[in-house]
Amino acid sequence: MAFANDLLCWGQAECTDIDHKRNKIKCKAAGVVRGDTADFEVEYDQLVITVGAKPATFGIPGVAEHGFFLKEVQDARAIRNRIVDCLETASIPGQSPETKKRLLHFVIVGGGPTGVEFSAELHDFLRSDVAKKSFPDMDKECVRISLYEAMPQVLNMFEKQLVQYTEDKFKREGINVHTNTAVIEVGDTCLKTKRKEANEIEEVPYGMLVWVAGIRVQDVAEQFKKALGQQGRSIEINEYCRVKDTQNVWAIGDCTFGALPPTAQVASQQGKYLGRLFNNFAGSSPQALDMHSHCLSQEPFQFKNRGAFAYIGGSQAILQTGSSENPVVLGGHEAYFAYKAAYFSKLLGLRNRLMVGTDWFKTQVFGRDPSRV
Ligand SMILES: Cc1cc2nc3c(=O)[nH]c(=O)nc-3n(C[C@H](O)[C@H](O)[C@H](O)COP(=O)(O)OP(=O)(O)OC[C@H]3O[C@@H](n4cnc5c(N)ncnc54)[C@H](O)[C@@H]3O)c2cc1C
Repeated sequence: MAFANDLLCWGQAECTDIDHKRNKIKCKAAGVVRGDTADFEVEYDQLVITVGAKPATFGIPGVAEHGFFLKEVQDARAIRNRIVDCLETASIPGQSPETKKRLLHFVIVGGGPTGVEFSAELHDFLRSDVAKKSFPDMDKECVRISLYEAMPQVLNMFEKQLVQYTEDKFKREGINVHTNTAVIEVGDTCLKTKRKEANEIEEVPYGMLVWVAGIRVQDVAEQFKKALGQQGRSIEINEYCRVKDTQNVWAIGDCTFGALPPTAQVASQQGKYLGRLFNNFAGSSPQALDMHSHCLSQEPFQFKNRGAFAYIGGSQAILQTGSSENPVVLGGHEAYFAYKAAYFSKLLGLRNRLMVGTDWFKTQVFGRDPSRV
């Protein structure tokens, strides 16, 4: 990176290697169109690693081949197309009841906020838009959503009463929550599950499986960690967001998950912190400091937990804020309005706000669009 007004931009490219000893990164053009060259190197004074994370499959057979993930925009498009494909195929005359039941079984693996929110959104879509508008003849009894979680409860980071509130709501709505149950293998039409402390393995036919069971660091971050001899699951940083055992490499956001949760809230606070740290350094007298002594004159990073939300369907959400000793909790429609307001306020720029606001309005009035993209 370059300080002050000296901001340089390169074309869209992927960083393939970090050579911290030579202060260089290797990059490769990311597009499919090729010019004279695709590979290039960039020299840096200070490097900030913000490559995020990618889904972790934990080596479970079949997940990478048959599962859908929920990380990038193209993942969301693939999921949407698969849902519509399952609905369309189940509606072809002559399908056996077993095949229909399989195609209309939507499985989500991972009971964190992403898995819970996706289950809730999918339920809204299937019950409101699909059943009432696009596929009114669909046999509603065949449509099932199952959420699998290996731990004893979903939404581990929320207070017990909010977890109970969510599980009760899901039960009423017919979303099957299987806690203490691990998915141990995924085939193209059937998955295998095992309940904790039980020996039987259950085979479960399904139409679509969305895998949101965890994350791991990107390959480039993994290589970098190994080069530094770091053993943890993510890049280890110190209290100033500087990568341990380096002088001028920094890392923030999901590539450092572990001590702090991998959320936008953490990433954004770390980004602002590092921006201030660098700006203060740039403003100091040239002969004054190196970056190391500069850090020691600055406050370490401190995460301020502003609270957590999760959407649970039917225009309801759960909200937890306050300290861990004195949590403030709220569930229902009021929490949903607070959730929408909070996310709206975090959108960057008027254009985004207008576009997202218009989308929300269209969904409320006309429902979700079930066409393929
Ligand atoms: C479905 C979903 C819902 C979520 N909901 C919430 C929520 O409600 N609240 C919340 O706080 N958090 C939420 N999160 C988490 C939040 O999105 C992340 O914590 C946050 O985006 C992390 O920011 P980041 O900058 O570290 O990584 P990212 O936002 O993932 O950005 C990393 C960027 O680096 C790029 N990149 C990766 N590798 C390379 C490379 N080798 N070279 C060049 N570029 C590279 C990627 O393309 C990406 O653009 C959600 C996440 C998901 C997946």
